[in-house]
Amino acid sequence: MITKPKGTYDLLGKEAKKMQYINDVLTAICEKYNYEFIRTPVFESSEVFHRSVGNTSDIVTKETYDFKDRGDRDITLRPEGTAGVVRSYIENKLYGRDIQPVKLYYNEMMYRYERPQAGRLREFNQFGVEVLGCDDPFIDAEVISLAYNIFKLLGLTNIRVNINTLGDDESRSDYKKALVEYFSNYTNDMCEDCQNRLKKNPLRILDCKVDASKTWFKNAPKIDQYLNSDSAKRFSKLQEYLNLLDIEYVVNPSIVRGLDYYSHTVFEIEMLSKNFGSQNVLAAGGRYNNLVKMLGGPSTCGMGFAMGLERIMLALDEEEVKIPINDSIDVYIGYVNEEEKETALYLSQELRLNGFICETDYLNRSLKSQFKSADRFKSKYTIIVNSNDIKNYEVTLKDNKLKEEEKVKINDLVDYLDMHM
Ligand code: ATP
Ligand code: MG
Repeated sequence: MITKPKGTYDLLGKEAKKMQYINDVLTAICEKYNYEFIRTPVFESSEVFHRSVGNTSDIVTKETYDFKDRGDRDITLRPEGTAGVVRSYIENKLYGRDIQPVKLYYNEMMYRYERPQAGRLREFNQFGVEVLGCDDPFIDAEVISLAYNIFKLLGLTNIRVNINTLGDDESRSDYKKALVEYFSNYTNDMCEDCQNRLKKNPLRILDCKVDASKTWFKNAPKIDQYLNSDSAKRFSKLQEYLNLLDIEYVVNPSIVRGLDYYSHTVFEIEMLSKNFGSQNVLAAGGRYNNLVKMLGGPSTCGMGFAMGLERIMLALDEEEVKIPINDSIDVYIGYVNEEEKETALYLSQELRLNGFICETDYLNRSLKSQFKSADRFKSKYTIIVNSNDIKNYEVTLKDNKLKEEEKVKINDLVDYLDMHM
């Protein structure tokens, strides 16, 4: 038997319905916030990711699917959404649009060569938003609240928003210096990754999961002492806005995010449930005011987040959230002979196009087993087509709940069902 590649999954059955429900909620809320759907290619020139996500990030150093195509081009499968969206924003000159800022959302499969475990896959579905062309913390608050409200709407309660700031370039550079000075005293006790990070991007040490429990790690300098007044003011404004929106959050100085392009606001939304395992971050994001320029566009601010839909599915299971999945149909159409079959074919199209969920028999089975199917489908009504009724332009309609039958004219069927359902 040929099996699926490691770290991938087939989406089917009940899980597929759940995923569709999540997608419906995502699309509906984006419509209300007036974010615009964007789709970018599954693969891009490698430099899109190598230049933006940063050569020191885990994603680029360990996780990308890189290959040469048959034309000898360096190609990378999309590991995250932001870089491709920004590439497209620049290429399509969205910065020149009349209406600013540009508010976008995407919902795509991502690819990372990771060690697969619960909530960590090689092919996974991320939903995310990006707002380009606005530097006001108003947008930071809107973006964070959008992520938070998605979880609330889905029915998750046991979640927490963690926010932090990385400050502007000046604050961040002062802070990095302080971190290098401090961490240099502990290189002996550091994991190998952190020793590298110390040279390339000391901020990312704070994101380490290996060293996190050590005392020297916990006592590292915190960003708040290094923020210049502009950066500090902006961060407190954001908190004011979040308070106003009734978003519960904590300021968590250890949030720095894995990607290299962040500045100012960063945030993560985590699932608090103890049994949930270590893949407990459901959504993460922040402000990236340098990224558009890094990718060759005009200097433009950005703010966004991404959330993993597979982790949301696990979170919904963990909290035992009841998802409104429709598992019944409106009408089952039963028949026996060829003439009746033709009427069934015609009627099924007629009912479906008028908005009813309709099933029929495709395998020429006995009426008895068709009735069994109607039960299995939890059909509200069963139509029995028979040759005698057809002569009078009517069918027998059975209300499966009341167990009552009556004859209804074929021309009146839609109106009848509309009135009774
Ligand atoms: P982690 O710390 O879990 O590796 P990350 O920092 O790599 O996460 P981001 O790149 O910010 O995560 O992605 C945002 C969200 O996408 C995560 O919070 C998670 O919900 C989801 N996600 C990231 N990587 C995976 C993966 N390999 N499998 C499934 N979901 C993922
Ligand atoms: Mg990761």
